[in-house]
Amino acid sequence: MNQTEKTDTIRLSDQQILQAFVDSKALQKGHFHLTSGRHSDTYIQCARVLEQPRLTIALARETIARLPAGTAVDMVASPAVGGILFGFAVASILDKNLIFSERVEGRMHLRRSFALAPQYRVLIAEDVVTTGGSVRELIALVEEAKAEVVSVVALIDRGSKPDFGYPYYPLLTLEAPSWSPQECKLCQNGKKLQSPGSRSLAKR
Ligand SMILES: [Zn+2]
Repeated sequence: MNQTEKTDTIRLSDQQILQAFVDSKALQKGHFHLTSGRHSDTYIQCARVLEQPRLTIALARETIARLPAGTAVDMVASPAVGGILFGFAVASILDKNLIFSERVEGRMHLRRSFALAPQYRVLIAEDVVTTGGSVRELIALVEEAKAEVVSVVALIDRGSKPDFGYPYYPLLTLEAPSWSPQECKLCQNGKKLQSPGSRSLAKR
């Protein structure tokens, strides 16, 4: 067996996947002020994984390895922005094309002359699924084109595990509870609040 084949067969355990998110600081524990205004003890910044191409590719490889045997894909589709990097890694490993949808005036569209042929078997790849809104809108675009959604894959599901009506395989499922500031126990315990998602508070 040569080196390439060996690398191809490396599998990641759930524990190794979780550790990769912790090591890259994509997953942080503390007391966080989320952009929604709610507080949480968990902060997920998937971009910290996606900024590392080799790690992203390793996670994409594991995602594909976990799909049911015989899963056939003609094209990968991702919702912009975060989904594109993960989708690129997935599409590259599958040696298929990647298209992405973008939000224009609040609605998802396929722009840039991207087209879905009828009967195309489309794998949808997203980075983080919170409520699954973007994925649902992309599914609607695939259905409109009379193409077929094979399944949905994601790097992280934030615990909501939405029913997309198609097989759904998040690599990591993470319960990330959040509370209103009034009901936040961390506030009551006087734990220092961080605002990692807020650009206005970041030092320039
Ligand atoms: Zn709080």
